[in-house]
Amino acid sequence: MFEGLSDRLSGILSGLTRRGALTEADVTAALREVRRALLEADVALEVVRGFTEKVREKAVGAVVVKSVTPGQMVVKIVNDELVAMLGSEAGLIDLNAPAPVAILMVGLQGSGKTTTTAKIARRLTNRDKRKVLLASLDTRRPAAMEQLAILAKQVGVDSLPIVEGQSAVQIARRAMDAARLGGFDVVMLDTAGRITLDEALMAEAAEVKAATKPHEVLLVADALTGQDAVVTARAFDERLGVTGIVLTRMDGDSRGGAALSMRAVTGKPIKLVGTGEKVDALEEFHPSRVANRILG
Ligand code: GDP
Repeated sequence: MFEGLSDRLSGILSGLTRRGALTEADVTAALREVRRALLEADVALEVVRGFTEKVREKAVGAVVVKSVTPGQMVVKIVNDELVAMLGSEAGLIDLNAPAPVAILMVGLQGSGKTTTTAKIARRLTNRDKRKVLLASLDTRRPAAMEQLAILAKQVGVDSLPIVEGQSAVQIARRAMDAARLGGFDVVMLDTAGRITLDEALMAEAAEVKAATKPHEVLLVADALTGQDAVVTARAFDERLGVTGIVLTRMDGDSRGGAALSMRAVTGKPIKLVGTGEKVDALEEFHPSRVANRILG
């Protein structure tokens, strides 16, 4: 059973009755617990290291005010730093470009990419009153193309008619042309996912990106991803220039460590979170909520 960071720190710092500044030794003991809490929340090791160093810099010498215990003081520093690192940008999709605005959806297979594409389309249609066209570029998996068409119907948006034998880039170009002709505001391109990172996947997505010049490149990632989160996020960002991240399965047991890992290695905002299988299960990202979840 997980014990919250506050409890652990008040335990180890309880002997610390004097007031005044936190010493290097106090902070070192506290940081051991912080490090454990972050690793239990599945934050990637390299990110944990960077984070604890930042907290050390802020905490050593910090004056413990009368109204709080040293443990509460460290928890506050950790919490503030987590919220700052998770980012405070409004998690909104940027549509500020001439129509049709292309949004490229990328991510590993099974991450929830196709479902998330439909969720975002629904939101852009209902909330932002945009006319959205969906297109699946998954030429190797006809079932994935069908799935997107079914989801499009379900959320009441158009999907590009499926034409067999076209490459991903050809489909993407056809989608942009159809959007221009049909007066669409937004084209969402659901790229093919793979079980693991592979060069062919990246090359194909890069080609689609060059052909369509998307305004947003959204990386869809499973919040349950552990240490791999950094590898995935870095690979997609380096190759495709991710503009934002959507974390799925935040309704599950995940403690949200992947959010911190991905944000830390890419510097890109987490824009939205998926909170269920249904097409309305999409929410804005709230750094403070995730920080609480990570700290337990
Ligand atoms: P893709 O292969 O990345 O396109 O993944 P899919 O969109 O097909 O999703 C894979 C599975 O994850 C499906 O069963 C979805 O219903 C489910 N899924 C997607 N997003 C979420 C989410 O936020 N929460 C939960 N619980 N399930 C999700």
